[in-house]
Amino acid sequence: MHQYIDGEYRDGHGETGRRIDPTTGEVAETIRYADPTDVDAAVAAAKRAFPAWSALSPAERADAMLRLATELDRRSGELAALETAQTGKSLRMSTEFDVPGTIDNTAFFAGAARQLQGLAAGEYAGRATSMIRREPIGVVGSISPWNYPLQMAGWKILPAIAAGNTIVLKPSELTPGTSLIFAEAATAAGLPAGVVNIVTGTGQVAGEHLVRHPDVAMTSFTGSTAVGRRIMEMASATAKRVHLELGGKAPFVVFDDADLEAAARGAVGGSIINGGQDCTAATRAYVHHSLFEAFTERVAELMEQVVVGTPTEEATDLGSLITHAHRDKVAGFVDRARAAGARVLTGGEAPNGTLAAGAFYRPTLVVDAAQDSEIVQQEVFGPVLVALPFDTDDDAIALANDTPYGLAASAWTNDLNRSLRASEEIQAGCVWINDHITITSEMPHGGYKASGFGKDMSPYSLEEYTNVKHVLASR
Ligand code: NAD
Repeated sequence: MHQYIDGEYRDGHGETGRRIDPTTGEVAETIRYADPTDVDAAVAAAKRAFPAWSALSPAERADAMLRLATELDRRSGELAALETAQTGKSLRMSTEFDVPGTIDNTAFFAGAARQLQGLAAGEYAGRATSMIRREPIGVVGSISPWNYPLQMAGWKILPAIAAGNTIVLKPSELTPGTSLIFAEAATAAGLPAGVVNIVTGTGQVAGEHLVRHPDVAMTSFTGSTAVGRRIMEMASATAKRVHLELGGKAPFVVFDDADLEAAARGAVGGSIINGGQDCTAATRAYVHHSLFEAFTERVAELMEQVVVGTPTEEATDLGSLITHAHRDKVAGFVDRARAAGARVLTGGEAPNGTLAAGAFYRPTLVVDAAQDSEIVQQEVFGPVLVALPFDTDDDAIALANDTPYGLAASAWTNDLNRSLRASEEIQAGCVWINDHITITSEMPHGGYKASGFGKDMSPYSLEEYTNVKHVLASR
């Protein structure tokens, strides 16, 4: 059963889909998707649960969420195994990153719930006092992608419920398993039925119905920019609040004073993380021409040391991509770049032998691609890094800003002024200096430009799930 509604598992009433094991191409399970009546049932449950949940004190909500963190921790082995089974990512990554990250996020938002308060009391010459109240919005409808199924569920559910809202989450139909366990764990932790509901179904049926639903007060979406645009259009019919975390094409700028070894290691780690299926992954390395050859040589060498293999094996650094179709899409970008004159310094192919049946792809470094080519401009969402040389700092910043996206970026330099300039002038929601990829529960994550708007994680995220009310009491 792949629906979790009103505190229990249920069967969907829509069409039946299949989840394929990305490492073998075989059918892993069949899923009865949600149809609009299932979405209606989930929204109705969330609406019923809202008055009591929102009336709890922040401390009471925080207690329940801390119990949820404990419950997730108790089930961490099962969560990691399922996260790997449905995505093909290495078990090491699920165990060391995805699951502990979600538990940490749960504990963070439990604490943050108690910090959310109306500030700004104002006195008007003894005549009146103003207060600001932050109130929950109501039922939140969220839609999440397949790349980090558990973490994305957490990023959506946790701030929403901490602020006193109830939620219906539609995970990607490719990866619903760990979101369902998350909801089950919430019930086991004592969260009332209907506070967290999961509907598994396609974007076109369950997703669109959830966005259009008149009883859903806010749509919070993480996914591609194309779908984000469509969601904004649909949400306009009911004028509901929209929060969009969309695609990215992160630049990785290496200035001429950078620590070359640190930059090369950062580029490999930042570009192959999660098979490059990460909206903040390093995708475009702009490297000062004086370092270009040494940098690309070292990156290629390090990429060749990455162990691509069966996700559950301890030695595996990089598992499979999400589907065979997606692997073919990634390969298509590289093949077309090569045909247009780019050189592939390493990778650019799927491994053969025992891995041939799976959706695997080798870490890939491309040079000699044009700045306006599709591999530099569009989201490839695979373990592919393109490196391009630059001459001046002005050029580097202009090139870094030259895509429609603006989610994350990094600058590699030991010069304080350069790093400050890069952090000011690169148009992105996050600029790392001498790092590429670290995220923490305390810090906001979200885009500029076509990467969307709104913040996940941090107190900024909590505020997004509230209405601000001004109360003026006159004497
Ligand atoms: P996607 O946009 O295809 O799908 C995301 C979700 O939207 C899925 O649950 C899908 O079923 C649903 N959906 C699809 N069409 C819909 C519609 N018409 N109406 C309502 N819902 C619909 O994205 P994906 O392929 O699952 O994920 C990869 C994308 O997500 C990449 O573009 C990546 O950059 C982005 N992403 C962004 C962030 C971020 O924080 N900015 C994080 C992770 C992933």
